[in-house]
Amino acid sequence: MNTIKAYYLYPDIQCLTAKIINIYGEYIELDSTIAFPEGGGQEGDHGEMCLKNDPSIKINFIDTQLIETSKINNINYPDCKIGGKIIHKIFSEDLYLLNKFTTGDEVIITINTDRRNLLTQSHSATHVMYMAIDLLKSDIVTHILGCHIKPQGGRLDFLTDYRFSQEEIKIIEEKANSIILDNIPTPIEVDPKYPDVRYWICGDYKIPCGGTHTKNTGEIPLIKISRKSIGAGKERVLFQWK
Ligand SMILES: [Zn+2]
Repeated sequence: MNTIKAYYLYPDIQCLTAKIINIYGEYIELDSTIAFPEGGGQEGDHGEMCLKNDPSIKINFIDTQLIETSKINNINYPDCKIGGKIIHKIFSEDLYLLNKFTTGDEVIITINTDRRNLLTQSHSATHVMYMAIDLLKSDIVTHILGCHIKPQGGRLDFLTDYRFSQEEIKIIEEKANSIILDNIPTPIEVDPKYPDVRYWICGDYKIPCGGTHTKNTGEIPLIKISRKSIGAGKERVLFQWK
């Protein structure tokens, strides 16, 4: 059974009543969750669950993962994965608490909203940094190797021999911060056929992305951009909060 992605249905709620579907190893699977699982470079949410009928019984989770997704059999949706089960990882020192939880129990799940808000800002900032790089050097952005979005910043890795100069990094930073200051609305478009397929929209940009985002660029703090050498044929551009 696929987990209901309540983080899409109710993006602003901080707690949810859900049912335990399975407990295996160090993971708890729920029938629905507000915890965003690691994906698209964004780290998974942290939070806490307590038994609905005895809130004094609680357990923390320190990661959220999406497993057993399905591929869409349609060439118009390359690399799109939908459905899947969402599992919440328990801190190894808390594993002894798992025997207080049973399949079928109702729990109230809350997420660490401070951390989620930072991840959301960081995620949107990564898109804005991408736009700023694209405006300066559009041939680079077609070769993205990966990205990592953390609460304190993010990075984009490109498959290229090109090395950005300090002047170019300064131009990218100024452009990114001007996009932030322009407070551009960034609505999410949901695919009518596959609700798990979502697009982040900002001006002329429409980027396929299932992550969590701010509602407009003005909610993103100003960023400081730098570059790093990470080996032959690769270039890393990263940001942290100013
Ligand atoms: Zn995104």
